[in-house]
Amino acid sequence: MAKSPPVFRFAPSPNGRLHLGHALSALTSAQLCTRFDGQLLLRIEDIDLTRCRPEFEQGIDEDLAWLGVRFDGAVRRQSEHFDDYRSALARLQEMALVYPCFCSRQDVKLAVARREAETGKPWPRDPDGAPLYPGSCRDLSEKERDERMAAGEPHVLRLAMDRALASANLSCPAFAYSVFDASGDEQRIAVDPARWGDVVLARKDVPTSYHLSVVVDDAIQGVSHIVRGRDLEAATDIHVVLQRLLGLPTPLYHFHRLLADETGQKLAKSRQSPGLADLRAQGVTPAEIRRQLGFT
Ligand code: GLU
Repeated sequence: MAKSPPVFRFAPSPNGRLHLGHALSALTSAQLCTRFDGQLLLRIEDIDLTRCRPEFEQGIDEDLAWLGVRFDGAVRRQSEHFDDYRSALARLQEMALVYPCFCSRQDVKLAVARREAETGKPWPRDPDGAPLYPGSCRDLSEKERDERMAAGEPHVLRLAMDRALASANLSCPAFAYSVFDASGDEQRIAVDPARWGDVVLARKDVPTSYHLSVVVDDAIQGVSHIVRGRDLEAATDIHVVLQRLLGLPTPLYHFHRLLADETGQKLAKSRQSPGLADLRAQGVTPAEIRRQLGFT
């Protein structure tokens, strides 16, 4: 049987315009996709219904077309697929690996400060620098959970990481994933998801989270090769756990460098990094952007 072509994707969030960091990511995906004779899909990651806007999605389309990045197949918009994420959550709930957490950000902050005061030691942080969830809601009684949910108390759903990792299918075969490079060489990377603690799988306002929807969508879209920035390298451990729990394939990964501004900080929408549209308005050409980013 003929081997199916590799499937790549570019997955921006329409909560602002694209900047040079996105251009690097899109161009790297396109370049590797061409090299491996694959297909490149576009996915719009718009689960954040308050921050994502249709005009940003339109801007993303314009920026990518201007840059010369072309996509195959239909665009997948996450906001149109909440049922897919609900069924994945339901499976994890059946495995008793998910629990409701009623803590506000402030509750978590106070609980962490209390633990730090009690132990005199800094509370562990996750790879992004946020304090690990101290587990306040992990052991609530069934009765209390049901009552608070029935009363409509806002809550997120968290993955019980210890229980997830203890479940048999996470120990065999060796718990790892593979990264690939431009020459097609692969290297195994061991995962250490415990450093993230009980991550949120469904937010208060939507029945999913970045981690859950990205894993579900990659499987539904048949994505075999994921190209993403190094800032998402540690989070990939969470994705591999979810893939194992849900019985989904683990794609190959490639992490590209991150671009920094003059102050050495990573380019980000939140820091008002100049957008591709701004550069275009200043007369910069796509060819100049490609050259600047190291593409010939
Ligand atoms: N939507 C994510 C972002 O814009 C990236 C998607 C991914 O590689 O998982 O950073």
